[in-house]
Amino acid sequence: MSVFSDRYIKTFMAELQARNPGELEFHQAVNEVLTSVAPCLEAYPYLLDGKIMERMVEAERIIIFRVPWMDDSGAVHVNRGYRVQMNSAIGPYKGGIRFHSSVNLSIMKFLAFEQTFKNALTTLPMGGAKGGADFNPRGKSDAEVMRFCQSFMTELHRHIGQDTDVPAGDIGVGGREIGYLFGQYKRLRDEFSGTLTGKGFAWGGSSLRPEATGYGVCYFAQQMLASRGEGFEGKTVVISGSGNVAQYAARKSMQLGAKVVTLSDSDGYIYDPDGLDEEKFAYVQQLKNVARGRIKEYASKYPSASYYPGGAKPWGVKCDIALPCATQNELDGDSARTLVANGCICVSEGANMPSTPEAIAVFQQARLLYSPGKASNAGGVAVSGLEMSQNSMRQKWTPEEVDAQLHRIMSDIHDSCTKYGTEPDGYINYVKGANTAGFLKVAGAMMDQGLV
Ligand code: NDP
Repeated sequence: MSVFSDRYIKTFMAELQARNPGELEFHQAVNEVLTSVAPCLEAYPYLLDGKIMERMVEAERIIIFRVPWMDDSGAVHVNRGYRVQMNSAIGPYKGGIRFHSSVNLSIMKFLAFEQTFKNALTTLPMGGAKGGADFNPRGKSDAEVMRFCQSFMTELHRHIGQDTDVPAGDIGVGGREIGYLFGQYKRLRDEFSGTLTGKGFAWGGSSLRPEATGYGVCYFAQQMLASRGEGFEGKTVVISGSGNVAQYAARKSMQLGAKVVTLSDSDGYIYDPDGLDEEKFAYVQQLKNVARGRIKEYASKYPSASYYPGGAKPWGVKCDIALPCATQNELDGDSARTLVANGCICVSEGANMPSTPEAIAVFQQARLLYSPGKASNAGGVAVSGLEMSQNSMRQKWTPEEVDAQLHRIMSDIHDSCTKYGTEPDGYINYVKGANTAGFLKVAGAMMDQGLV
């Protein structure tokens, strides 16, 4: 790193931390991007003079609001809702809604910041945003979740629209929640539009949207593996999480000929040395999406599997490919060293920022194939973008058409990472490639549009 870059990053981060105290996840996300793009800022001084990074880290708008709701016993609860509209340089704001007890302003800002670069990488015209609430749907009845979603949308509807801001799902927000949110939006606005994505297939949703993030994670990993003459066939795959992204990453891994041996939730993980198959996959979907149970029940149902409780993570299980698909900072430096020591060759992130900075350094030093979430999990928002196109056209594309576009987009993202991330020894630094490609696109659009 040049003297300029080193000094620029230190000064910038000191100011960012002073202006946004205590927002550790946001600091982490900005520091990663800044480390990648500092050479661009040095090479193009007009971006420095235009204070492009200072503008990128300041959200265009942040809405924070009260969400009161009543549970089934009549008790009143109050949660805090957020929408961070980070950047609209290349299209309407776009990004998911997260319902989880850990949600706070730092997590919302880090996710919206990441989303801006991810969306730029997809080649589609979408700006970056994120929203959510510190509400945990776990253990709530359908009626309670519906009342919460209706209260949340009663404020949010003023700030979103099909040409303004188009939310989607994320942790704790799946098909059920999108349905309740959409229903309330439609009632309040008296319009049937494409303002939310991830809608049910019968009422405006796209084929393959539920599958898109997990499938895209595997398509991206396929591209990385192909760069070394490898593939999924015969490989052992370790996956964290058991929600939307994890489920479809597992299914595509199986379809590509790999053996998936773990899944997890925040309580622990299951290890099934026999691997998942279609029947076990169907059981997981029923367990998590319908019965809303816990992953430990898998081990009661299938004697081949063991359950590891106490919030244990699956990174100690020997594997060739690791797909972190649960949450941020779930894979630390020690876990990364264990994966490397056990012969893992590829880590493709399904979650947003699941690897800590120390873990990323371990992967890169070991020259592992490692992709950050903003590259490898972009398939979800990409198909959301395709859902917006279909809604605007009042048309529906077949699963084959959507899958072909998803393949093309993941391949284009891989090309961008290769273009901007290949190092002198031939190693592809996907972090640098993804950050640089996304940054240059957004920065160019911001400069074109003047000081707004
Ligand atoms: P889901 O809510 O469907 O599933 C989340 C999974 O992660 C659950 O198994 C959950 O377990 C687990 N999890 C959540 N928080 C923690 C935690 N603190 N520690 C351990 N496990 C945890 O969410 P998604 O599958 O949609 O999202 C997973 C990740 O993928 C997130 O990082 C999200 O931002 C990212 N992502 C999602 C996209 C999408 O299209 N859905 C698109 C791009 C990225 P538990 O039930 O115990 O909470």
